[in-house]
Amino acid sequence: MHDITTRLVQPSEDIPEGFASLSQGVFHASTILFPDVASFLQRQAQTHDGYSYGKNGTPTYYALASKLAELEGGGKTALVPSGLAAVVLVNSAVLSAGDHVLLPEGIYGSTLDTTRRLFGKRGVQYNLYRDDIGAGISTLIAPNTKLVWTESPGSNTLEMQDVPAIVSAAHARGVLVAMDNTWATPLGFRPLDSGVDFSVQALTKYVGGHSDLMMGAVTTRDDARSKALRESAELLGYYVSPDECFLALRGLPTLPLRLERHFASALHIAHWLEGQPAVARVNYPPLESSPWHALWKRDYKLGSGMLSFVLKLSGLETIERFVEALKLFRLGNSWGGIHSLVAVIPLAAGKMAAEAEWLVRLHVGIEDPMDLVDDLQRAFAFS
Ligand SMILES: *Cc1c(COP(=O)(O)O)cnc(C)c1O
Repeated sequence: MHDITTRLVQPSEDIPEGFASLSQGVFHASTILFPDVASFLQRQAQTHDGYSYGKNGTPTYYALASKLAELEGGGKTALVPSGLAAVVLVNSAVLSAGDHVLLPEGIYGSTLDTTRRLFGKRGVQYNLYRDDIGAGISTLIAPNTKLVWTESPGSNTLEMQDVPAIVSAAHARGVLVAMDNTWATPLGFRPLDSGVDFSVQALTKYVGGHSDLMMGAVTTRDDARSKALRESAELLGYYVSPDECFLALRGLPTLPLRLERHFASALHIAHWLEGQPAVARVNYPPLESSPWHALWKRDYKLGSGMLSFVLKLSGLETIERFVEALKLFRLGNSWGGIHSLVAVIPLAAGKMAAEAEWLVRLHVGIEDPMDLVDDLQRAFAFS
């Protein structure tokens, strides 16, 4: 029983004697009881892999954390209340006043915001680097550089990065590497197998998969770093509800099935979009025509359902008519759930071709792909 698809379906082993349900038990707690004063006074020793206080971990928390660590190919997972909280957790565990961190231009906007506005205020310096920098990251590493963030493909514009090359160059200089792997999940790419030190996922997206929960995870294979993460989570006062853990555990066994469907349908739609006269460009690395295709093909086993495109007539009015004519692609933020979604994203000046001001981001859900194409076709006719 080696395949992760099979292992994700196995019920966890904390089922009470005689209650052989396939469902995960949900355990709520603030207080944890201790049998005697000695163990009560020792409770701190159990903060990071046992039970000391509801905030620091319940059986439901550990059931999800250990499944996610398996999905990452081994290591220890810390759970936090959102994807952004996972970013804050890594920054908090690694960066102190006077330290320097590097981020790719395509990084998730809120990761940049929190690094700049929250950690910047506390004396952390940062620089952006070009997504295609690869081993050239060396030239940006300063004596006080402690961390390099990677995110491949990047949020909204989907630039790929040569993560293995960045890891080698950073490690050669003693710098740690974190990767936001929300787009691919470890089913598409396993950051820790490529030497990444911290693998981050917004579980809000594909692991939750049903647009009804928010959570984040950070996984590492190093015991000291794992302890530092759990300590930071405790100091930040982070708490993850067992009900949310249950929802994530409910989503996990179908993750491989869902992702295959999201990927197949998104690839079909990406190809179809390329053939539309109104479309200037499609951003989706699994497309052979993508400038990032070679890297994607080299490193990734699977794609996912999020892509974006630019219209030739990129004025906001054209986009408004297009988006408002859609019926199956609903207008809303976030993605990774079973439903198809559309979002309108303003492009940072100079980020892409000069002609484009707006990006249309699609999340391709698990509906019939033919219906989704019909929906897009009708919207193009309206716009
Ligand atoms: C959505 C997202 C996040 C943040 O997740 P939340 O749970 O919404 O805070 C972080 N990184 C990436 C790449 C995302 O897409």
